[in-house]
Amino acid sequence: MELTLIIPCHNEAENIAPLLARMAECMEQLDAPDGLELVFVDDGSTDVTFAKIAQAMDAPAHPRISMKAIELSRNFGKEAAMLAGLENARGDLVGFIDADLQQDPATSFKMLNYLREHPEVDCVAAVQEERHEGRVLKWFKRRFYKAFNAVGDVELPANASDFRVFRRNVADALMSMPEYFRFSKGLFAWVGFRTHTIPYTPAKRHAGSTSWSFGSLMGYALGGIVSFTTWPLRLILYVGMLTSLVSIIYLLVVVFEYFVVGINVPGYPTLICITLLFAGIVMLALGIFGEYLGRIYIEGKHRPVYLTRRMIEQDGTDQEADGLR
Ligand code: UDP
Ligand code: MG
Repeated sequence: MELTLIIPCHNEAENIAPLLARMAECMEQLDAPDGLELVFVDDGSTDVTFAKIAQAMDAPAHPRISMKAIELSRNFGKEAAMLAGLENARGDLVGFIDADLQQDPATSFKMLNYLREHPEVDCVAAVQEERHEGRVLKWFKRRFYKAFNAVGDVELPANASDFRVFRRNVADALMSMPEYFRFSKGLFAWVGFRTHTIPYTPAKRHAGSTSWSFGSLMGYALGGIVSFTTWPLRLILYVGMLTSLVSIIYLLVVVFEYFVVGINVPGYPTLICITLLFAGIVMLALGIFGEYLGRIYIEGKHRPVYLTRRMIEQDGTDQEADGLR
């Protein structure tokens, strides 16, 4: 098998058939892989996504395409579904692609071809050229990459997602990271290897709707920062040092005033402001601590990242999984 494409699916019933049709169409291109394995991971869909995948497996879309369907026991999130796919991918090269046809398989094949022609490169990432997004969201995303790269321990290329094709070494490296909170952009950056980027323009979603709201994107971004840097903790230290220094100076001023000029009562607003400001800073610091502590707590449980419920292979094997990976 030359290439495995992993397709995480959450409520994508209406996209399975069109995606397979497009895959079959692309398999006729000159740069198509010799053998293509499609690993569909149904991430706890509440619609008939898994049934659609299973049904598609009865009549293969193309002679050189083989399929595998994994059903997770509930919705674990896209990152977990991606790991489930990785752990079941058999291709020499592996890639991720969304189920909603926003990402064209032809681009995956372009990435595959680049790897064929450049043995020195390990990973090819498709970077979004143009985004069909609102201005506010675009602004936030730009800020996120700036902030992450300023404080993070690894460098994230702007707008590179998990739409990639990579070699076994990268796949093994990704699987060697057992963490529960998987921020794939960061994981890709962390494992390193030689990565080349090619531009692509995402299409409109074929059917269904995106599972990202503005709030969930913000949470994702914050989670990414917490996952890849302890810089916010250091920030608390700096803020603490600065406020302590300012407080000591102000204390000296007050003592001096008391002995030299004498203090008359006013100062109530200053007191209130200072008390509130410091209470705010302390709460913020506690919140940042909590964010890290919570993650330590969850990671400390060493729970599996996902559980499978059922797995169907092209040769007809149909396992009602025991819940274990
Ligand atoms: N997805 C998933 N689990 C989730 C949410 C999404 O497997 O909990 C899949 C989804 O089916 C799609 C891909 O991840 O194939 C990208 O999701 P979506 O289109 O919602 O994200 P966007 O394209 O808006 O970034
Ligand atoms: Mg999408």
